[in-house]
Amino acid sequence: MRTGSMRVAEISLPAIRHNVRHLREMTGGNVIAVLKANGYGHGAAIVGKAAIEGGATLLGVADLEEAIALRDAGIDAPVICWLHGVRVDFVAAVERDIEIAVSNLAQLEALAAAASHLGKTATMQFKIDTGLSRNGASPGEWSALFARGAELERAGAVRVRGLFSHLSNTNDTEDRAQAARFESALAILRAAGCDPEMIHLASSAATMTSPHLYYNTVRVGMAIYGLSPLAGKTSADLGLVPAMTLRSEIVALRDVPAGAGVSYGFNHVTQSDTTLALVPIGYADGMPRALNGAGATVAIAGQHCPIVGRIGMDQCIVDIGKLGKKVSLGDPVILFGDPCTGVPPVEVWAELMRTINYEIVASIGTRVVRVAVDGDDSTLSEPDNTDTSSSFSLQIADPEAMHALGVRLGRSFAAGDLVILTGPLGAGKTTLSRGIGEGLNVRGPVTSPTFVLARTHPSLGGGAPLIHVDAYRLADAAELDDLDLDFEGSVVVTEWGAGLIEERGSWIEIVIERPIGGAGNPSDADGSEDLDEPVEPRTVTVTGYGPRYNNGVL
Ligand SMILES: *Cc1c(COP(=O)(O)O)cnc(C)c1O
Repeated sequence: MRTGSMRVAEISLPAIRHNVRHLREMTGGNVIAVLKANGYGHGAAIVGKAAIEGGATLLGVADLEEAIALRDAGIDAPVICWLHGVRVDFVAAVERDIEIAVSNLAQLEALAAAASHLGKTATMQFKIDTGLSRNGASPGEWSALFARGAELERAGAVRVRGLFSHLSNTNDTEDRAQAARFESALAILRAAGCDPEMIHLASSAATMTSPHLYYNTVRVGMAIYGLSPLAGKTSADLGLVPAMTLRSEIVALRDVPAGAGVSYGFNHVTQSDTTLALVPIGYADGMPRALNGAGATVAIAGQHCPIVGRIGMDQCIVDIGKLGKKVSLGDPVILFGDPCTGVPPVEVWAELMRTINYEIVASIGTRVVRVAVDGDDSTLSEPDNTDTSSSFSLQIADPEAMHALGVRLGRSFAAGDLVILTGPLGAGKTTLSRGIGEGLNVRGPVTSPTFVLARTHPSLGGGAPLIHVDAYRLADAAELDDLDLDFEGSVVVTEWGAGLIEERGSWIEIVIERPIGGAGNPSDADGSEDLDEPVEPRTVTVTGYGPRYNNGVL
């Protein structure tokens, strides 16, 4: 029997489908969805089905056992595996129509033997090493390997369906050097008489940065889960939607006085009277033990609350003092998810642990129940699918989340939208505006409009331009009229515009609030725009006024 919602990784199928579709449209070729390591911790079978629905051509895993598990889960779409043990049983693969990536002659002969044993043609691809010094045939082996492959293909034992290699993601120069070696291998393979239909080199990172490496297929893991493979870029920056929400629930509440020791070793002692929530998720579930004391938060009732004390194998403790008595047993606790919905992104844990988001999601333990959550793909742009009112509030943890919210808003804005942006200096208005500009795909940089009254950012893609107005120095609505802005044909974002433009009928108000006592970031006061970056969580409230927004703002 399961105990319900104690430890759940919710996997959004609309997010997976969206990400695969986005990658297909972006690259214009085949997408191989990489599902190794239980779909990077998301649940390989859950993700596999959604990836095929989103338009993936082929599913990729490392081990044959993983490929067989997909077949056992009822997935009959094409599957390839590429990392083989010395005693691998290719008969089991050929029986199940699992494609094999071949890295050396011994594997090629074993595959051909398995095929002839079953009287079938085995489908295979050549995996070559172009500089990573890992799995794959090295350049000295290519000629003999490809010649034998062509021979076996003519004999009907194998079908050579593709050629691929893996990049080091070191830099563009190294990528280009690998690509040159890859192309010389392709020439050798063709000269040997093979005509591979799938040619692929780029995984997520190169897919996001290097269209010249697409060939006709990309082989993508991280991006289909909606997570960024690039340091310094968020999911939203790349048009991706994170698919996993890691959640638990409050199973005990305890009021404690100042000075109470918390968890093993008492390495946290409460500073004031507070309330502690017990959350049944620990390091056996993939929550790094070293997060202890590092400053990570979880989202409860829309607020970010700190994890305190040492993280145990099964449980951790959250200080919810700032929530007052608004919380009850069984209330949901979100450990990470899509920051556009106001929860912490997985990247917070990765950064605190000095690792990459890949390692965090791939380490989510087996006790965590993977639950597929389906829905209408078109609801993705709603920060909260259940909220159809024209107002919503979000907790925004940091500048990245503020930027991501801006991108999401920008994507949903259209010509005629009028936005009033209000918030104290240093609240993150410029960060949000920059995100809006990016979401609208207009020419940047969107900066604080302090030295001009209105700046127009033309669209880079045929959409509406962004007009960014600083209403601070406008005396009244008449002065705004004097600027003669094209409100109908543009998205107009005005800072400090409250009181000036309400007469226009419909508008969106965005209010950014800092926590009481929260400050800007004076330590960054180096004259750059970072002055406007929030360093503490913000509450952002988006409200639509007037008939245009009767059905919601987004
Ligand atoms: C894991 C893996 C990928 C996917 O890498 P991402 O960075 O997650 O896109 C692609 N190809 C091979 C050979 C891999 O092992």
